[in-house]
Amino acid sequence: MSLITIKNYLGGQLLAPESGTYLDDHEPATGQVYARTPQSSAADLDQAVAAAEQSFPSWSTTPAEQRAQVLNRLADLIEQNQDRLARAEAIDNGKPITLAKNVDIYRAAANIRFFAQAITQFSSESHAMENVAINYTLRDPLGVVACISPWNLPLYLFTWKIAPALAVGNTVIAKPSEITPMTAYLFSELCIEAGLPAGVLNVLHGTGPAIGAPLTEHPRIKAVSFTGGSATGTLIKQATASQHKKLSLELGGKNPTLVFADCDFDRTVDEVARSAFANQGQICLCGSRIYIENDLYERFTAALVARVEQLKIGDPLDEDTQFGALVSQAHMDKVLGYIELAQQEGGTVLTGGQRLQLSGRCADGYFVQPTIIAGLDNACRTNQEEIFGPVCTVQPFSDEQQAVALANDSEYGLAASVWSQDIGRCHRLAKQLNTGIVWVNCWLLRDLRTPFGGMKASGSGREGGLEALRFFTEAKNVCIKY
Ligand code: NDP
Repeated sequence: MSLITIKNYLGGQLLAPESGTYLDDHEPATGQVYARTPQSSAADLDQAVAAAEQSFPSWSTTPAEQRAQVLNRLADLIEQNQDRLARAEAIDNGKPITLAKNVDIYRAAANIRFFAQAITQFSSESHAMENVAINYTLRDPLGVVACISPWNLPLYLFTWKIAPALAVGNTVIAKPSEITPMTAYLFSELCIEAGLPAGVLNVLHGTGPAIGAPLTEHPRIKAVSFTGGSATGTLIKQATASQHKKLSLELGGKNPTLVFADCDFDRTVDEVARSAFANQGQICLCGSRIYIENDLYERFTAALVARVEQLKIGDPLDEDTQFGALVSQAHMDKVLGYIELAQQEGGTVLTGGQRLQLSGRCADGYFVQPTIIAGLDNACRTNQEEIFGPVCTVQPFSDEQQAVALANDSEYGLAASVWSQDIGRCHRLAKQLNTGIVWVNCWLLRDLRTPFGGMKASGSGREGGLEALRFFTEAKNVCIKY
């Protein structure tokens, strides 16, 4: 099979990197190299900045309705190509194809459509000073902005960033993860088909050090919207500290799941299993620390183990597969290392714990069993560090107060879920949990208008709805005296 050669999207054209250098792109389910990704460099970046700056004056003054029309055409094209894109995402990432179709590709189109509509409804504030003056706020696009996205939800998070940036009139240089570049490449082709003007979106592929860091540090980039690990977020903050750029950082999570004895048992077991193991546990929002009220601990844990053991693990391209491969060999090794660490720390593996050897096409794939670990205290590394894989822990708690204390005992603060039928308790906990998102009797239920983001090491700034439109614009107050 010949390798697919991915290209950068630069100034409206699909181009090879200036260096002529490529990186291997592996299919996680087979371990085989199936594509080559450009390793972009400063020369490509300079061209992209020039193209984006050149297109900014006309794109930023294009009426919002017309920008929305182009974006809606892009969303249409994603929907028309959903099977092809879902297959590409499943091959590139290792996720089950049905998940790719129903979550990733569905949401990619929804992201673009949402911000296309939002920009036609966007308005700004006015503050009257009685009998003295009137203030109004102008919100102008920033210029050329950078959008950097990770590998776990490749096209979903890529579009979540570029859609608001483009909708408000910025021009964009985007860098998808080098580990999962394929759908951003296919998306570049769709941009050309949709008639997105040249230079409005530029996609540069390559590694974080080679192109991600130079992109964030480039003096003519006005803002950086980044989703990825907390350590990388810190590097970006440090590297841009003297440049006064706008930064939006969506970082890691170690999310608590609080299960009370009065929960709706069957539904909670199903949803807690989904929240721990969807996308092989590789979602920043996955609930990896599961706290269960003492009275329910044994029964709930047994049911959770039984539920997880029913998951159909297999070839991501099989429509029946519910649980696919981890994204890379390096990531699989990291996850297996954490399972070993958990046992050294005194944990007991209740289910899973091993690499999984499938047969046939997937014999060399990066599969790890969904793993549940008990018997660890909250302070250990397994419970404090982000594993970002199919590994969760269970711990009992005695009362509401202890549950909150355990949940908040983390450097992360992205999301939490609470499972209880006591509405008063749910409100109390929602207020006390130190996370940017609290789900009550649900998980990953998303309304795109709501603020999205984390506290503490999980990031700074919020995405979603008006928050994103505000991030990608500069507010200017105009004060007119009567
Ligand atoms: P990384 O931080 O390793 O990478 C994220 C992106 O940043 C990639 O495109 C990467 O490039 C790039 N990058 C790496 N180093 C730099 C740098 N110095 N400067 C600029 N860009 C750089 O994260 P992962 O890709 O491993 O993604 C997993 C992480 O993302 C987890 O911690 C997860 O929790 C978090 N995440 C957070 C979400 C949120 O909304 N809060 C959502 C999804 C994931 P490359 O990989 O090509 O080297």
